[in-house]
Amino acid sequence: MTIPKPLEFLLGLPLYAPVAYEGEQVWDVLEVLYFSGTYDSFCVKCKRESTFKVSAPHRPDEYKRNYVREKWERQHGVDSEHPLPPSAVYSVGANCTRHESHRQDFLFFIDYQIIPSDSDPPIVKWSIQKIGQQPSYGDLHLLQVKKYTHVLSKAQLGELTRAIGLASHDVGVGAYVYLRRIFENLVEEAHVVAKEASSWDEDSYSRCRMGEKISMLKAHLPTFLVEHPGMYSLLSKGIHELSEDECLKHFATLRLGIELILDERLEARERANKIAAAKAAIQKAVGDAGA
Ligand SMILES: [Zn+2]
Repeated sequence: MTIPKPLEFLLGLPLYAPVAYEGEQVWDVLEVLYFSGTYDSFCVKCKRESTFKVSAPHRPDEYKRNYVREKWERQHGVDSEHPLPPSAVYSVGANCTRHESHRQDFLFFIDYQIIPSDSDPPIVKWSIQKIGQQPSYGDLHLLQVKKYTHVLSKAQLGELTRAIGLASHDVGVGAYVYLRRIFENLVEEAHVVAKEASSWDEDSYSRCRMGEKISMLKAHLPTFLVEHPGMYSLLSKGIHELSEDECLKHFATLRLGIELILDERLEARERANKIAAAKAAIQKAVGDAGA
């Protein structure tokens, strides 16, 4: 399993979804714990997208990567030593650049488990999980999905809201099932459009699994979905086969897939509105000139 990117950890993953790491993956974990710079997010106080600037904690020198040394070690067959951030709570905080007093804060917990075995030293399994945040996961995302009001049916918007609400209370399976329904509905809507084409092969579509269906619908869905078939690995599983942790971990990716589809719809809607406004303006100008 790859370690999610820092921003996905901060904003995308719900709470209490532990992500295991080992060996040099610790560098990706340190990127989360000592995240710095700026990022874009919804500000619940500005009630709009804003840029946040992280007030970065001091990152000790031994937690900074030295590629030159690592290259030398590889060339000389020396095993690189990786840092070992201790089991503790780490925090990342940021300020909205519109208003200094608007903040976002995130808490992470590094934990380890010693697996009993005859080996010496014993096997130690490390993990990182987000254990707290303000604004809450729900607040951060519920306000954000409101922008999809005009491109989703009321029922679907309700399901998306419920999915986020459940995920923010770490109800993994429940949240995932709602997202899955929305995702499958969106794919079905693309299917309805696609099958109007004379060259459409409905028989083979109906026999396909989700990944192949999406690739058949590639002209009607965002390229990202077509290029990341891993997103649907859980979609073909029965509900009884899903674990809470697995669902929470995949929640962010599936939500991202849904948002990509919806963002494209929003863009198309905005473009259509602009064209309509331009047409009206031209007609008015022509009318004024003729009068
Ligand atoms: Zn703000």
